[in-house]
Amino acid sequence: FSVQPVDIRAVISDVVGFLGKEAEYRNIAITIDVPPDIPQFETDRGKLQQILLNLINNAFAALSEGGALTITANRVNGKTLRIRINDTGCGISDKDLKRIFEPFFSTKTSTGGTGLGLSITYSLVQELGGVIDVESEVGVGTQFTITLPLMPPAR
Ligand code: ADP
Ligand code: MG
Repeated sequence: FSVQPVDIRAVISDVVGFLGKEAEYRNIAITIDVPPDIPQFETDRGKLQQILLNLINNAFAALSEGGALTITANRVNGKTLRIRINDTGCGISDKDLKRIFEPFFSTKTSTGGTGLGLSITYSLVQELGGVIDVESEVGVGTQFTITLPLMPPAR
């Protein structure tokens, strides 16, 4: 567990950068909305990157040409950071929604999904002391919300 002061804006732009030009090729609009008042906070940067990468990869898999991905971060009650990853993709049925955090649950049978991304993401969020939630509607889109403690940097 490697805890260090982390700037959420930098982490989000790094992760979006890993995607390269895929959004451009597929005509997917990416919006990042992070207010400048969010302080640096103590967390494991590598784990936070992995969490966001898993969620954004899933969003990309769900999106079609012309879709939108929106990533927002906000402070809640001063001591909590809320990160939302919203896509206008295919959405998740109520039946599947109950199972998405289970290891090896995947609907990507033809594309060879491992079904491990969200179970790992769930554990990583817990390791950071946070909570992950999801809301989804078939044909409309999906929103994952991660709530993390905003631990002030030790000094
Ligand atoms: P994998 O991506 O390998 O299938 P995950 O654990 O990352 O495994 O996700 C499990 C399942 O949850 C996916 O197969 C898909 O059905 C569903 N899912 C996850 N994120 C989204 C999303 N943003 N939009 C639609 N479905 C999603
Ligand atoms: Mg996945």
